[in-house]
Amino acid sequence: MNVYDATRMADLLGREGYAETANEEDADLVILNTCHIREKAAEKIYSELGKLALTKRERDAQGREMKIVVAGCVAQAEGEEVLKRQRAVDLVVGPQSYHRLPDLLRQAKDGRRLTDTEFAVEDKFHALPDPSRAQIRARGVSAFVTVQEGCDKFCSFCVVPYTRGAEVSRPVADIVAETRRLIDAGVREITLIGQNVNAYRGADDKGREWGLARLLSHLADMDGVERLRYTTSHPVDMAQDLIDAHESIGKLMPYVHLPVQSGSDRILKAMNRRHTGADYLDIITRLRKARPDVAMSSDFIVGFPGETDADFEETMALVRKVGFASSFSFKYSPRPGTPGAERDDQIDEEAKRERLAALQALLEEQRQAFNAATVGREIDVLFEKPGRHEGQIAGKSPYMQAVHVEGDPEMIGSVARVAIVAAGSNSLAGRLLGEEAKA
Ligand code: SAH
Ligand code: SF4
Repeated sequence: MNVYDATRMADLLGREGYAETANEEDADLVILNTCHIREKAAEKIYSELGKLALTKRERDAQGREMKIVVAGCVAQAEGEEVLKRQRAVDLVVGPQSYHRLPDLLRQAKDGRRLTDTEFAVEDKFHALPDPSRAQIRARGVSAFVTVQEGCDKFCSFCVVPYTRGAEVSRPVADIVAETRRLIDAGVREITLIGQNVNAYRGADDKGREWGLARLLSHLADMDGVERLRYTTSHPVDMAQDLIDAHESIGKLMPYVHLPVQSGSDRILKAMNRRHTGADYLDIITRLRKARPDVAMSSDFIVGFPGETDADFEETMALVRKVGFASSFSFKYSPRPGTPGAERDDQIDEEAKRERLAALQALLEEQRQAFNAATVGREIDVLFEKPGRHEGQIAGKSPYMQAVHVEGDPEMIGSVARVAIVAAGSNSLAGRLLGEEAKA
């Protein structure tokens, strides 16, 4: 979502005369779009700001101004604190008020420093300009569309409900219009995003509420849409019609990112996840029934307060039962203001480190096994960009694997049939299949 927000900020500021630069020293304006989810991510901002402050001073000495903006969830959570901790910061703007950037930048001058972390009442998306065809094209053939933001779940480890605010779904018509614009400019794959994307409840023109399955089915009927994905889902909102959509919508890719966090029911309860390990496994059984080749991905947290070795073993057992194609796993990080952080049974660093290493070794083994199992198969690949070597093009399999083949750059933006011949550690090598490649 931060990637999506950053592109919207770039579009917005493009209209104000700003252009993107790859070179920090050239920048009149630097925006750090920040993440508050774990302490490490949040702390990194301050070391980054320290470096930027030096660049700003050098530019000042040359009479060239440089403004520094902190955006995103650290901005939301820490607000004025950011201005106090780093004098070089001009403006702090939260994830629900970045559409006001042009105005705020005009106000933040002559040494005036500002914070805007309001949860705006107006629709942020309506206040943002549409990107041009050139802007869309430059970002490639796969694009994100935010359909839902915020979260009402309050898992006891998580800051998202505090930083992103309450669950809000965008109206169907807005999503369709944004998708149409992307497709018309050459985008072929749309990933619908939201902190709780499958909790989507958007209104159509008649004021009726649509769920995610209905939205996906509607988008799949649009000409030019080749592939659809959605992320991130919560198990509790994994409704049967969404599971069925994996059978009925051919354009919906067989890959589901469904975080489980832990395999222990005791820990899941303490995390306020509102489902058990068995519920999770049942969802996967039903998904696989709808779409037998569906690849699963998840997030895991090890070392939540009170987690015993036995709890952790239940996580390992669940992982063995599922067999994940890919995953993200983290050590629990106590976050200010969350119930988990208040608990007095925190797990020591050493145990967290050991558990994470064991879990990651297992998940990596499963990832490699999944990739190895694709060798010898014929799959569709959406080509996205030139490959690393001359004469190569690279793209994605339906299961989110990177695939490269010898091929014509003209094929970028199209889907072609590929025979997978080898699996490397991070990508698959394939061969274009003649007839289908031309079709
Ligand atoms: N809405 C999604 C996840 C959003 S946050 C869901 O409910 O699953 C992305 C991931 O960051 C989470 O799935 C979780 O694994 C991780 N995470 C969130 N808070 C964390 C914390 N305090 N410590 C470690 N990992 C955390
Ligand atoms: Fe955070 Fe996801 Fe839980 Fe919401 S559902 S509180 S975003 S982990």
